Amino acid sequence: MESQKTPLIFEIFTECKTTKARTGRMILAHHHVDTPVFMPVGTQGTLKGLLPQQLEQLDCQIILGNTYHLGNRPGTDILRKAGGLHKFMNWKRALLTDSGGFQMVSLLQLAEITEEGVKFKSPYNESECMLTPEHSIQIQNTIGADIIMQLDDVVKSTITGPRVEEAMHRTTRWFDRCLSAHERPNEQSIFPIVQGGLDPKLRSESACQLIQRDVNGYAVGGLSGGESKDDFWRMVHLSTDILPKNKPRYLMGVGFAVDLVVCCALGIDMYDCVFPTRTARFGCALTRTGQLNLRKAQYSRDLKPIDELCECSTCKTYTRAYLHQIVTIETVSCHLLTVHNIAFQMRLMRDIRESIKEQKFPKFIQDYMLTVYPNKDYPTWIVKALEAVNVTLL
Ligand SMILES: [Zn+2]
Repeated sequence: MESQKTPLIFEIFTECKTTKARTGRMILAHHHVDTPVFMPVGTQGTLKGLLPQQLEQLDCQIILGNTYHLGNRPGTDILRKAGGLHKFMNWKRALLTDSGGFQMVSLLQLAEITEEGVKFKSPYNESECMLTPEHSIQIQNTIGADIIMQLDDVVKSTITGPRVEEAMHRTTRWFDRCLSAHERPNEQSIFPIVQGGLDPKLRSESACQLIQRDVNGYAVGGLSGGESKDDFWRMVHLSTDILPKNKPRYLMGVGFAVDLVVCCALGIDMYDCVFPTRTARFGCALTRTGQLNLRKAQYSRDLKPIDELCECSTCKTYTRAYLHQIVTIETVSCHLLTVHNIAFQMRLMRDIRESIKEQKFPKFIQDYMLTVYPNKDYPTWIVKALEAVNVTLL
């Protein structure tokens, strides 16, 4: 009997003995990915300011492409002719694409959601279009990412009432339509998305419905959209308690350093966020002790690098004073800060993975939070979230 090819093999290396954190490796069609992992977001098939080779040098194993943007420009015809996005953008490592739904709902005021799909006016020529679950998968099959996402019914996390329940059930129905439409199951893994807003009952129900589907991984969606941090961590905690341990769990839209540390403790394996690259474009560099806004005059005579401990090419070569001089004026400054911010995220995730492997993650969390909050004025949500996984801050 011919064995079916698996497009995702997830191997867990170490489980933290205190928290729900774990390290592992996903073997995907194009590359392996060490988890927990942060995935930088490349909107138009490129990361603003960086080339694929530079992402490789920064040790990125997987990046995220936006289906909405790619489906419009360059468009699926040219992507098909090019043999998929990997070849088109010369990125040899792993790729994940979103469904396009979130972009559509957040970018276009006129989007209307029906059972059939998301109806919207094209921003290019005003014509009416409909993104259905089937169409989203068709585009993602053409793009050819290693991991693809279901189209989900996205509701703002601050909305309450019957709309949340409707969206949760619809998301499960749309997942089943996506699964039926998926034409490359041997090369691409499709992840369903746990929804249910901030209602613990609906979240649990959503997760319980989705774990009955045979998939290679799960996403937790609809968070990080302006809800309270206390609601946020509770929904993550609850979701990872239900999702199977032997599959990767992806928390969508999360990328602030303290959130990454906390959510790793809550058992999340994958993250994405535009924040590190977006903030670089506004002249902000990430460090463990906070953000440096290099536009500020105080850096005009500062001959230190952004971060003395950072090993990125920007920190090894340029001073804060130089970056201040060119920031927001020259596109090269956007490039230099993006390199640093991605290096910062990659190093944080590497440090997290190493501390889990050595069974030192609780200590890592304590030290990390003390660096960020030297006066121990820890936000209550962090204290509570960590207590839930047996970590008490110093
Ligand atoms: Zn740096």
